[in-house]
Amino acid sequence: MDRHPTDKDAEKRRTEVMKKLGHHNLKLDDYERTIALEVVHPDHITVGFEDIGGLDSIISSLRESIIYPLLYPTLFTSTSSLLGAPKGVLLYGPPGCGKTMLARALAKESGATFINVAASVLTNKWFGESNKLVAALFSLARKVQPAIIFVDEIDTFLRERRSDDHEVMGMMKAEFMTSWDGLLSGSDRILVLGATNRPMDIDPAILRRMPKRFAVGLPDTEQRFNILSLMLKGTKLDPLFSMRALAAQTTGFSGSDLRELCRNAAMVPIRECMRKMALDGETMRRVEKEGFNMRPLTMNDFYEAEGSTLSFPDPDDEPLPNGATGPLELRTEEIMKAQVNDQQI
Ligand code: ATP
Repeated sequence: MDRHPTDKDAEKRRTEVMKKLGHHNLKLDDYERTIALEVVHPDHITVGFEDIGGLDSIISSLRESIIYPLLYPTLFTSTSSLLGAPKGVLLYGPPGCGKTMLARALAKESGATFINVAASVLTNKWFGESNKLVAALFSLARKVQPAIIFVDEIDTFLRERRSDDHEVMGMMKAEFMTSWDGLLSGSDRILVLGATNRPMDIDPAILRRMPKRFAVGLPDTEQRFNILSLMLKGTKLDPLFSMRALAAQTTGFSGSDLRELCRNAAMVPIRECMRKMALDGETMRRVEKEGFNMRPLTMNDFYEAEGSTLSFPDPDDEPLPNGATGPLELRTEEIMKAQVNDQQI
Protein backbone atom coordinates (compact mmCIF):
# COMPACT_ATOMS: atom_id res chain seq x y z
CA MET A 1 0.00 0.00 0.00
CA ASP A 2 1.27 3.41 -0.85
CA ARG A 3 0.48 5.50 2.16
CA HIS A 4 1.70 8.75 0.59
CA PRO A 5 -1.10 10.90 -0.81
CA THR A 6 -0.19 10.76 -4.48
CA ASP A 7 -3.81 11.28 -5.39
CA LYS A 8 -5.08 14.85 -5.17
CA ASP A 9 -8.63 13.67 -4.44
CA ALA A 10 -7.51 11.62 -1.45
CA GLU A 11 -5.65 14.63 -0.07
CA LYS A 12 -8.72 16.82 -0.60
CA ARG A 13 -10.91 14.28 1.20
CA ARG A 14 -8.56 14.21 4.15
CA THR A 15 -8.60 17.99 4.39
CA GLU A 16 -12.39 17.90 4.28
CA VAL A 17 -12.47 15.31 7.07
CA MET A 18 -10.33 17.54 9.24
CA LYS A 19 -12.56 20.51 8.50
CA LYS A 20 -15.63 18.45 9.39
CA LEU A 21 -13.97 17.50 12.64
CA GLY A 22 -13.49 21.11 13.48
CA HIS A 23 -9.73 20.61 13.77
CA HIS A 24 -8.40 22.76 10.96
CA ASN A 25 -4.91 23.09 12.33
CA LEU A 26 -4.43 19.58 13.55
CA LYS A 27 -0.99 18.27 12.63
CA LEU A 28 -1.25 14.70 11.40
CA ASP A 29 1.30 12.35 9.97
CA ASP A 30 0.57 10.13 6.95
CA TYR A 31 -0.59 7.22 9.10
CA GLU A 32 -2.93 9.39 11.15
CA ARG A 33 -4.35 10.84 7.94
CA THR A 34 -5.13 7.35 6.69
CA ILE A 35 -7.02 6.64 9.90
CA ALA A 36 -8.70 10.06 9.74
CA LEU A 37 -10.71 8.83 6.74
CA GLU A 38 -12.55 6.48 9.11
CA VAL A 39 -13.58 9.27 11.46
CA VAL A 40 -17.15 10.48 11.90
CA HIS A 41 -17.93 13.68 13.75
CA PRO A 42 -20.79 13.26 16.29
CA ASP A 43 -22.80 15.96 14.49
CA HIS A 44 -22.80 13.81 11.37
CA ILE A 45 -24.20 10.73 13.06
CA THR A 46 -27.85 10.40 12.16
CA VAL A 47 -28.88 7.65 14.57
CA GLY A 48 -29.78 8.50 18.17
CA PHE A 49 -30.95 6.45 21.15
CA GLU A 50 -34.51 7.50 20.33
CA ASP A 51 -34.27 5.49 17.09
CA ILE A 52 -33.44 2.26 18.88
CA GLY A 53 -36.35 0.17 20.08
CA GLY A 54 -36.50 -2.21 23.03
CA LEU A 55 -33.02 -1.62 24.43
CA ASP A 56 -33.93 0.91 27.13
CA SER A 57 -32.18 -0.85 30.00
CA ILE A 58 -28.90 -1.18 28.04
CA ILE A 59 -29.17 2.46 26.98
CA SER A 60 -29.57 3.66 30.55
CA SER A 61 -26.58 1.55 31.68
CA LEU A 62 -24.53 2.97 28.80
CA ARG A 63 -25.53 6.49 29.84
CA GLU A 64 -24.48 5.94 33.45
CA SER A 65 -21.30 4.03 32.89
CA ILE A 66 -19.95 5.58 29.70
CA ILE A 67 -21.59 8.82 28.61
CA TYR A 68 -21.58 10.66 31.93
CA PRO A 69 -17.96 9.77 32.77
CA LEU A 70 -16.93 10.80 29.23
CA LEU A 71 -18.82 14.08 29.43
CA TYR A 72 -18.09 14.95 33.05
CA PRO A 73 -14.84 13.19 33.91
CA THR A 74 -14.04 15.30 36.97
CA LEU A 75 -17.39 14.53 38.60
CA PHE A 76 -16.37 10.89 38.75
CA THR A 77 -12.67 11.12 39.42
CA SER A 78 -13.05 13.76 42.16
CA THR A 79 -14.49 11.21 44.60
CA SER A 80 -12.48 8.12 43.78
CA SER A 81 -9.79 7.09 41.35
CA LEU A 82 -11.80 3.90 40.83
CA LEU A 83 -14.55 5.80 39.09
CA GLY A 84 -14.28 7.01 35.50
CA ALA A 85 -15.23 5.92 32.03
CA PRO A 86 -14.24 2.34 31.25
CA LYS A 87 -11.59 2.06 28.54
CA GLY A 88 -13.13 -1.00 26.99
CA VAL A 89 -16.73 -2.02 26.39
CA LEU A 90 -18.08 -5.03 24.51
CA LEU A 91 -21.48 -5.35 22.85
CA TYR A 92 -22.23 -8.94 21.91
CA GLY A 93 -25.17 -10.83 20.48
CA PRO A 94 -26.69 -12.20 17.29
CA PRO A 95 -26.51 -10.22 14.05
CA GLY A 96 -28.95 -7.41 13.30
CA CYS A 97 -30.00 -6.66 16.89
CA GLY A 98 -28.71 -3.10 17.12
CA LYS A 99 -25.06 -3.26 18.27
CA THR A 100 -23.79 -0.89 15.56
CA MET A 101 -26.76 1.42 16.12
CA LEU A 102 -25.96 1.55 19.83
CA ALA A 103 -22.30 2.33 19.13
CA ARG A 104 -23.16 5.21 16.80
CA ALA A 105 -25.82 6.61 19.11
CA LEU A 106 -23.35 6.41 21.98
CA ALA A 107 -20.87 8.56 20.09
CA LYS A 108 -23.58 11.03 19.10
CA GLU A 109 -24.93 11.44 22.62
CA SER A 110 -21.53 11.68 24.27
CA GLY A 111 -20.27 14.15 21.67
CA ALA A 112 -17.35 11.83 21.06
CA THR A 113 -15.57 11.54 17.74
CA PHE A 114 -16.41 8.15 16.27
CA ILE A 115 -13.55 6.21 14.72
CA ASN A 116 -15.05 3.24 12.96
CA VAL A 117 -12.05 1.06 12.33
CA ALA A 118 -12.18 -2.06 10.19
CA ALA A 119 -9.44 -4.67 10.34
CA SER A 120 -8.77 -4.07 6.65
CA VAL A 121 -7.68 -0.49 7.38
CA LEU A 122 -5.10 -1.61 9.91
CA THR A 123 -3.74 -4.68 8.16
CA ASN A 124 -0.92 -3.97 5.82
CA LYS A 125 1.25 -6.60 4.27
CA TRP A 126 4.42 -4.55 4.68
CA PHE A 127 6.34 -5.38 7.80
CA GLY A 128 5.85 -2.82 10.57
CA GLU A 129 3.24 -0.77 8.69
CA SER A 130 0.27 -2.27 10.56
CA ASN A 131 1.89 -1.41 13.87
CA LYS A 132 2.35 2.17 12.77
CA LEU A 133 -1.30 2.35 11.72
CA VAL A 134 -2.42 0.99 15.10
CA ALA A 135 -0.21 3.50 16.92
CA ALA A 136 -1.67 6.23 14.68
CA LEU A 137 -5.19 5.12 15.55
CA PHE A 138 -4.57 5.80 19.22
CA SER A 139 -2.55 8.97 18.68
CA LEU A 140 -5.28 10.37 16.42
CA ALA A 141 -7.92 9.44 19.02
CA ARG A 142 -5.90 11.42 21.57
CA LYS A 143 -5.85 14.46 19.31
CA VAL A 144 -9.60 14.43 18.67
CA GLN A 145 -10.81 13.18 22.06
CA PRO A 146 -13.29 12.52 23.54
CA ALA A 147 -13.25 9.63 21.10
CA ILE A 148 -14.78 6.21 20.64
CA ILE A 149 -12.73 3.68 18.72
CA PHE A 150 -15.33 1.27 17.38
CA VAL A 151 -14.10 -2.15 16.30
CA ASP A 152 -16.94 -4.07 14.67
CA GLU A 153 -16.50 -7.85 14.49
CA ILE A 154 -13.71 -7.55 17.00
CA ASP A 155 -13.41 -11.36 17.05
CA THR A 156 -12.00 -11.47 13.52
CA PHE A 157 -9.48 -8.79 14.29
CA LEU A 158 -8.48 -9.55 17.87
CA ARG A 159 -9.30 -13.22 18.05
CA GLU A 160 -7.68 -15.83 20.24
CA ARG A 161 -4.08 -16.46 19.20
CA ARG A 162 -3.62 -19.42 16.88
CA SER A 163 -0.49 -21.19 15.75
CA ASP A 164 -1.25 -20.39 12.10
CA ASP A 165 -1.64 -16.65 12.75
CA HIS A 166 0.37 -14.44 10.43
CA GLU A 167 3.25 -12.69 12.18
CA VAL A 168 1.96 -9.27 11.12
CA MET A 169 -1.38 -10.04 12.77
CA GLY A 170 0.32 -11.05 16.03
CA MET A 171 2.44 -7.89 16.06
CA MET A 172 -0.54 -5.70 15.31
CA LYS A 173 -2.50 -7.26 18.15
CA ALA A 174 0.40 -6.72 20.54
CA GLU A 175 0.66 -3.08 19.46
CA PHE A 176 -3.09 -2.64 19.91
CA MET A 177 -2.94 -3.98 23.46
CA THR A 178 0.07 -1.85 24.39
CA SER A 179 -1.58 1.32 23.09
CA TRP A 180 -4.81 0.37 24.84
CA ASP A 181 -2.95 -0.14 28.12
CA GLY A 182 -1.53 3.35 27.68
CA LEU A 183 -5.09 4.64 28.04
CA LEU A 184 -5.63 2.86 31.35
CA SER A 185 -2.95 4.85 33.13
CA GLY A 186 -3.83 8.26 31.66
CA SER A 187 -6.77 10.62 31.86
CA ASP A 188 -7.56 10.40 28.15
CA ARG A 189 -11.22 10.34 27.26
CA ILE A 190 -10.98 7.49 24.80
CA LEU A 191 -13.05 4.34 24.75
CA VAL A 192 -12.48 1.18 22.74
CA LEU A 193 -15.90 -0.22 21.90
CA GLY A 194 -16.04 -3.71 20.40
CA ALA A 195 -18.97 -5.53 18.84
CA THR A 196 -19.18 -9.21 18.04
CA ASN A 197 -21.49 -12.11 17.28
CA ARG A 198 -18.86 -14.53 18.59
CA PRO A 199 -17.58 -13.38 21.98
CA MET A 200 -16.07 -16.81 22.64
CA ASP A 201 -13.56 -16.30 19.79
CA ILE A 202 -12.05 -13.14 21.30
CA ASP A 203 -8.60 -13.39 22.81
CA PRO A 204 -8.99 -13.61 26.64
CA ALA A 205 -6.35 -10.88 26.99
CA ILE A 206 -8.58 -8.58 24.93
CA LEU A 207 -11.70 -9.60 26.85
CA ARG A 208 -9.97 -8.64 30.11
CA ARG A 209 -9.55 -5.13 28.74
CA MET A 210 -13.32 -4.90 28.18
CA PRO A 211 -14.73 -5.23 31.69
CA LYS A 212 -18.11 -3.79 30.72
CA ARG A 213 -20.03 -6.19 28.52
CA PHE A 214 -23.57 -5.85 27.27
CA ALA A 215 -25.58 -8.69 25.75
CA VAL A 216 -27.73 -7.41 22.90
CA GLY A 217 -29.94 -10.43 22.30
CA LEU A 218 -32.90 -11.19 20.07
CA PRO A 219 -35.83 -8.97 21.08
CA ASP A 220 -38.69 -10.46 23.11
CA THR A 221 -42.36 -9.71 22.36
CA GLU A 222 -42.40 -6.37 24.21
CA GLN A 223 -39.13 -5.28 22.60
CA ARG A 224 -40.43 -6.26 19.15
CA PHE A 225 -43.55 -4.23 19.86
CA ASN A 226 -41.35 -1.21 20.61
CA ILE A 227 -39.16 -1.74 17.54
CA LEU A 228 -42.19 -2.17 15.25
CA SER A 229 -43.83 0.92 16.75
CA LEU A 230 -40.71 2.92 15.90
CA MET A 231 -40.37 1.50 12.42
CA LEU A 232 -44.04 2.04 11.51
CA LYS A 233 -44.29 5.42 13.22
CA GLY A 234 -44.93 7.45 10.08
CA THR A 235 -46.87 4.76 8.21
CA LYS A 236 -50.61 4.86 7.59
CA LEU A 237 -52.10 1.73 9.19
CA ASP A 238 -55.43 0.01 8.70
CA PRO A 239 -57.78 0.34 11.73
CA LEU A 240 -57.71 -3.47 12.07
CA PHE A 241 -53.93 -3.62 12.03
CA SER A 242 -52.56 -4.85 15.36
CA MET A 243 -49.00 -3.97 16.31
CA ARG A 244 -49.22 -6.32 19.29
CA ALA A 245 -50.37 -9.21 17.12
CA LEU A 246 -47.48 -8.62 14.73
CA ALA A 247 -45.04 -8.48 17.65
CA ALA A 248 -46.45 -11.75 18.97
CA GLN A 249 -46.10 -13.45 15.59
CA THR A 250 -42.51 -12.48 14.95
CA THR A 251 -40.78 -14.59 17.59
CA GLY A 252 -37.13 -15.12 16.66
CA PHE A 253 -36.94 -12.03 14.42
CA SER A 254 -34.02 -9.65 14.93
CA GLY A 255 -34.37 -5.87 14.59
CA SER A 256 -33.03 -6.07 11.06
CA ASP A 257 -35.47 -8.92 10.19
CA LEU A 258 -38.29 -6.68 11.43
CA ARG A 259 -37.05 -3.81 9.30
CA GLU A 260 -37.01 -6.07 6.23
CA LEU A 261 -40.51 -7.34 7.08
CA CYS A 262 -41.87 -3.79 7.36
CA ARG A 263 -40.07 -2.68 4.22
CA ASN A 264 -41.49 -5.59 2.19
CA ALA A 265 -45.01 -4.97 3.56
CA ALA A 266 -44.80 -1.25 2.81
CA MET A 267 -43.97 -2.11 -0.80
CA VAL A 268 -47.31 -3.94 -1.32
CA PRO A 269 -49.58 -0.86 -1.61
CA ILE A 270 -46.90 0.97 -3.63
CA ARG A 271 -46.63 -1.93 -6.04
CA GLU A 272 -50.42 -2.09 -6.34
CA CYS A 273 -50.53 1.60 -7.08
CA MET A 274 -47.74 1.38 -9.67
CA ARG A 275 -49.46 -1.52 -11.43
CA LYS A 276 -52.73 0.39 -11.62
CA MET A 277 -51.06 3.50 -12.96
CA ALA A 278 -48.96 1.64 -15.50
CA LEU A 279 -52.18 0.39 -17.09
CA ASP A 280 -53.64 3.83 -17.43
CA GLY A 281 -51.51 6.79 -18.44
CA GLU A 282 -54.35 9.23 -17.87
CA THR A 283 -54.69 8.21 -14.18
CA MET A 284 -50.94 8.39 -13.81
CA ARG A 285 -50.84 12.01 -14.93
CA ARG A 286 -53.78 12.89 -12.67
CA VAL A 287 -52.25 11.20 -9.61
CA GLU A 288 -48.93 12.85 -10.33
CA LYS A 289 -50.71 16.22 -10.09
CA GLU A 290 -52.96 15.44 -7.12
CA GLY A 291 -50.42 13.54 -5.08
CA PHE A 292 -50.32 9.88 -4.18
CA ASN A 293 -52.98 8.66 -1.83
CA MET A 294 -51.71 5.28 -0.77
CA ARG A 295 -54.03 2.89 1.04
CA PRO A 296 -53.09 2.05 4.64
CA LEU A 297 -51.05 -1.06 5.46
CA THR A 298 -52.98 -4.12 6.54
CA MET A 299 -51.91 -7.24 8.43
CA ASN A 300 -52.19 -9.19 5.17
CA ASP A 301 -49.47 -7.05 3.60
CA PHE A 302 -47.03 -8.49 6.11
CA TYR A 303 -47.90 -12.07 5.19
CA GLU A 304 -48.31 -11.64 1.46
CA ALA A 305 -45.42 -9.33 0.65
CA GLU A 306 -42.84 -10.58 -1.82
CA GLY A 307 -39.99 -12.17 0.13
CA SER A 308 -41.92 -12.03 3.42
CA THR A 309 -40.58 -14.32 6.12
CA LEU A 310 -43.88 -14.28 7.98
CA SER A 311 -46.60 -16.83 7.30
CA PHE A 312 -50.32 -16.60 8.06
CA PRO A 313 -51.03 -17.81 11.58
CA ASP A 314 -52.49 -21.28 11.09
CA PRO A 315 -53.27 -23.61 14.00
CA ASP A 316 -51.88 -26.57 12.00
CA ASP A 317 -48.59 -24.81 11.33
CA GLU A 318 -45.26 -25.83 12.77
CA PRO A 319 -43.54 -23.18 14.93
CA LEU A 320 -42.65 -19.93 13.16
CA PRO A 321 -39.31 -19.54 11.30
CA ASN A 322 -36.07 -18.27 12.78
CA GLY A 323 -36.03 -20.53 15.81
CA ALA A 324 -39.41 -19.45 17.20
CA THR A 325 -40.47 -21.45 20.23
CA GLY A 326 -43.72 -22.47 21.88
CA PRO A 327 -46.81 -24.21 20.53
CA LEU A 328 -48.85 -22.29 17.98
CA GLU A 329 -52.04 -22.53 20.08
CA LEU A 330 -50.25 -20.50 22.68
CA ARG A 331 -49.17 -17.93 20.13
CA THR A 332 -52.67 -17.73 18.64
CA GLU A 333 -54.02 -17.16 22.13
CA GLU A 334 -51.38 -14.51 22.69
CA ILE A 335 -52.28 -12.87 19.39
CA MET A 336 -55.98 -12.80 20.23
CA LYS A 337 -55.24 -11.36 23.65
CA ALA A 338 -53.01 -8.77 22.02
CA GLN A 339 -55.73 -7.81 19.55
CA VAL A 340 -58.15 -7.26 22.44
CA ASN A 341 -55.50 -5.13 24.18
CA ASP A 342 -54.95 -3.11 21.01
CA GLN A 343 -58.66 -2.45 20.70
CA GLN A 344 -58.75 -1.27 24.31
CA ILE A 345 -55.95 1.20 23.55
P1 ATP B 1 -24.14 -7.16 13.04
O1 ATP B 1 -23.72 -8.02 14.18
O2 ATP B 1 -24.53 -7.95 11.83
O3 ATP B 1 -23.18 -6.05 12.73
P2 ATP B 1 -25.78 -5.36 14.58
O4 ATP B 1 -26.22 -5.99 15.85
O5 ATP B 1 -24.65 -4.41 14.64
O6 ATP B 1 -25.53 -6.48 13.48
P3 ATP B 1 -27.22 -3.18 13.45
O7 ATP B 1 -26.30 -2.98 12.29
O8 ATP B 1 -27.12 -2.22 14.57
O9 ATP B 1 -27.07 -4.67 13.97
O10 ATP B 1 -28.74 -3.24 12.94
C1 ATP B 1 -29.06 -3.47 11.58
C2 ATP B 1 -30.34 -2.72 11.26
O11 ATP B 1 -31.44 -3.35 11.91
C3 ATP B 1 -30.35 -1.29 11.74
O12 ATP B 1 -29.85 -0.42 10.77
C4 ATP B 1 -31.81 -1.04 12.04
O13 ATP B 1 -32.51 -0.66 10.88
C5 ATP B 1 -32.34 -2.41 12.45
N1 ATP B 1 -32.38 -2.60 13.92
C6 ATP B 1 -31.73 -3.56 14.60
N2 ATP B 1 -32.00 -3.50 15.90
C7 ATP B 1 -32.85 -2.47 16.08
C8 ATP B 1 -33.48 -1.88 17.21
N3 ATP B 1 -33.31 -2.37 18.44
N4 ATP B 1 -34.30 -0.81 17.03
C9 ATP B 1 -34.48 -0.30 15.78
N5 ATP B 1 -33.90 -0.81 14.67
C10 ATP B 1 -33.10 -1.88 14.80
